[in-house]
Amino acid sequence: MTDPEQAVARTDDRLAPDVDVLVVGAGITGIYQLYRALEAGFSAQLLEAGAGVGGTWYWNRYPGARFDSESYTYAYLFSKELFEEWEWREHFAGQPEIERYLNHVVDRFDLRRHMRFGAAVNSAVWDEPSATWSVVVDPDTVIRARFMVAATGNLSVPYYPDVPGRADFEGEQYHTGRWPVTPVDFAGKRVAVVGTGSSGVQVVPAIAEQVASLTVYQRTANWCTPLNNAPINPDEQARLRAEFEPICETLQTSASGFLHPVHDRATFDDSEEERRAFYERMWNSPGFSKLTSNYTDLLFDPAANAEWCEFIVERIRGIVEDPATAERLIPKDHRFGEKRPPFVIGYYEAFNRPNVTLVDLKETPIVRVTAGGIETTDGERPFDVLVWATGFDYGTGALTRMGIRGRNGEALEDHWADGPATFLGILSTGFPNLFFPGGPHAAAGNNPRYNGDQVDFIMDTLVHLRRHGYDSIEVEQAAEERWTNMIDRWAAKPPSFGRSSYFFGANIPGKPRRYLLNSGGRPKLLSMIAEVRDNDYRAFRLARTPDSTAATA
Ligand code: NAP
Repeated sequence: MTDPEQAVARTDDRLAPDVDVLVVGAGITGIYQLYRALEAGFSAQLLEAGAGVGGTWYWNRYPGARFDSESYTYAYLFSKELFEEWEWREHFAGQPEIERYLNHVVDRFDLRRHMRFGAAVNSAVWDEPSATWSVVVDPDTVIRARFMVAATGNLSVPYYPDVPGRADFEGEQYHTGRWPVTPVDFAGKRVAVVGTGSSGVQVVPAIAEQVASLTVYQRTANWCTPLNNAPINPDEQARLRAEFEPICETLQTSASGFLHPVHDRATFDDSEEERRAFYERMWNSPGFSKLTSNYTDLLFDPAANAEWCEFIVERIRGIVEDPATAERLIPKDHRFGEKRPPFVIGYYEAFNRPNVTLVDLKETPIVRVTAGGIETTDGERPFDVLVWATGFDYGTGALTRMGIRGRNGEALEDHWADGPATFLGILSTGFPNLFFPGGPHAAAGNNPRYNGDQVDFIMDTLVHLRRHGYDSIEVEQAAEERWTNMIDRWAAKPPSFGRSSYFFGANIPGKPRRYLLNSGGRPKLLSMIAEVRDNDYRAFRLARTPDSTAATA
């Protein structure tokens, strides 16, 4: 076993790895991966580009950033003691609490000494003779790793739209996905927020009170419904602790990875009066339960979906006092669930403030950013601060920018030129010993749950390799094709997210339009993992490399 403390310092060209498992990314998945690798007796090191722990919950520290999955369903389940000792203050925790939790986990399990911050990976090259990855962190540091786990996240490369003049703006500008650690002072400033996805609709109500004026630039309205957050009271804390096992059982087996009970009725099984009462309950229910506990045909029957949407429309018109603004806030081009729905606290209410204005970019598109503000086709508005809530290069963004070169020097970005090809959303043919949990073809509900499934599978696989003396693993092309074809085939079936969504890469000019989530869902992931195990890993080519030293734990 290699001493991980020596790993970074060693830059020699010996064939033995510096470290068994090199994890990239200190987000929820990377931290869990590091914990599991160390627990299994591998030497392991984690590299993180940021200055602290948290991944997406480190970078997205904009005002209003918070979970929209229940805190205790997003948290780690690998330690009952951890689950019991950490008291989440709110059902949907805010970013500061999330960051505190992740730091607590890292320190509680003594992981920090295996982590290196400010360490962005510039290149990672597969070395065939030694069966190792040579990973360059900065010009002088090369780490040779037997296995590389790129836990680099789906939502980690911010997207700035190609708006003319963006660099000319002389005020402050920020992207929600790269928010500075030093808090931004909004007091008395004229602020523009561009983008009304889940990030934009969180930031708007959070800063509306502080700013002199807030102008929200909306291109596409979203179906926003209330998050219905609340503090967790002492009785609920006690119940959470008492119910650890059943909570785990539900979260580890449910298709969505949530605790929400699935409804057993279709829309038109109920009378009109019953439906209204049900929609009322849904509106007042927590977070994602509007998707996961709604009528069973919500996403399948257009008439069912339209009725729920009509209920939301009534609510928007009831909350927003200015009828013209209310109309602009009503989505016209997609149904509920065709895009990832945001869950909000006071978003529609914010437009009743005299200092908040909505600009509909479908009516008046942006022409350019000027030195002093934003110009649309109806003129220029001056601003002190621009907030770009314009999303991410989803799924493949981080992995295709890391300089990953696999067998015969093939670039991962070339292998994925027409969109990602993966097996289980974890491996890709031609890139031995590289795993990317939480990457493309992974997402299937509540993030940490299926990312955790993937990490668990990786660990079972690494232990299998060690037990049998193998030091390299590569997925067979037939297995990669089978999984990728399944993803594409199922993505075309209803209920599918709209093709204009970032889930198809549609928000990035020039990006191939391929589905980036796991359209088969968590049940498919789990059944395929079981199949791999039952077939004794026949989906893979496992090899011993004579020149190298196998992971020796
Ligand atoms: P997003 O959903 O991709 O939204 C980007 C927004 O920017 C959209 O409104 C988009 O408009 C707009 N936009 C993009 N290019 C534009 C342009 N050239 N001009 C004007 N507007 C433009 O990104 P996001 O809001 O950051 O959310 C991404 C994902 O992160 C979410 O779906 C969710 O999965 C996750 N998230 C989660 C939470 C949470 O858990 N609480 C919070 C925030 C984000 P169009 O719709 O017209 O493209």
